[in-house]
Amino acid sequence: MMSDRKLTRRNVLAGAASGAAGLVLADSAGGIRPARAAAPMMGTQVPGWYRFKLGSFEITILSDGSYELPTSLMATNRPREEVKALLAANFLPTETRTSHVNIPLINTGSELILVDVGGGPNWQPTAGRLTDNLKAAGFKPEDIDKVVLTHGHPDHIWGLIDEFDEAPRFPNATYHIAEAEWSFWTTDEAAIRLAEPFKGFAVGAKKHLPPLADKTTRVKPGAEIAPGVVTMATPGHTPGHMSLIVTSGGETLIVSADCVTHPFISFEHPGWWPSTDLEQQVAENSRRKLLDMAATDKAMMLVYHISFPGLGHVARTGDVYRWVPAMWNWRL
Ligand SMILES: [Zn+2]
Repeated sequence: MMSDRKLTRRNVLAGAASGAAGLVLADSAGGIRPARAAAPMMGTQVPGWYRFKLGSFEITILSDGSYELPTSLMATNRPREEVKALLAANFLPTETRTSHVNIPLINTGSELILVDVGGGPNWQPTAGRLTDNLKAAGFKPEDIDKVVLTHGHPDHIWGLIDEFDEAPRFPNATYHIAEAEWSFWTTDEAAIRLAEPFKGFAVGAKKHLPPLADKTTRVKPGAEIAPGVVTMATPGHTPGHMSLIVTSGGETLIVSADCVTHPFISFEHPGWWPSTDLEQQVAENSRRKLLDMAATDKAMMLVYHISFPGLGHVARTGDVYRWVPAMWNWRL
């Protein structure tokens, strides 16, 4: 027999009949009282990490959070209405885009390799979550052996220096960046060539890269960062932008970095030019090359700015590509 304390169908119905607003519960004496209080809105999410095996490697995608971009930046060589129509057809907001930041941490079994470091605390209020999510995933910043930098944009490198104690956030790591990228950001070239809205990127890069000069290896395209982790030049977004090809046990993950950035535009219309690509035709050529490789090899791809965790495949029909988000079950 049920005790008086239990919520029973009869009591709930009695409460509803009493006309009280909200949920009502039976107290021990059989009377009716309102629920204690309205629950506060939490405004937070689960820790952002997702882990899977690639051959014998273990890969953890860490979220650095997200940030908002005006959709006017997405395709400067197409009429605005055409871009908005594509977004609307895919149930996306037409004025602002929420861009996620998905960062891979590769455990090869002998080394921990982090690919980019997020925007740090001074980029966007909704980003800079990498360290928290790294800890939630079971690691400390001191554990990282190597940091690979795909390119010098704020959402990829402004987390390098901990500005509170002006020291590297990943103190035991060595750093690896394309030679062309290092020289673009550490000379005056970036400040000269970047369009006005992006000039601040050059100031930030000069704060974050030079202090790490002694720990940084400037690599050539195709350089091996570790066995199974190889760089691939995909220039255009920035002059020395690179992607990574990660291979273990016959499985491949293409870390695209910002060669592709949008789940519909980058795949269905690789010839639409985002204003964030510095050399737009060069970027389009890199994008087409990477998409062709991913589709032909049926390789998994990580896309940094697509909904977390940003993992999926590239399908091809004729000249058109399509992003197919990975929908496998959680596995280790
Ligand atoms: Zn980016």
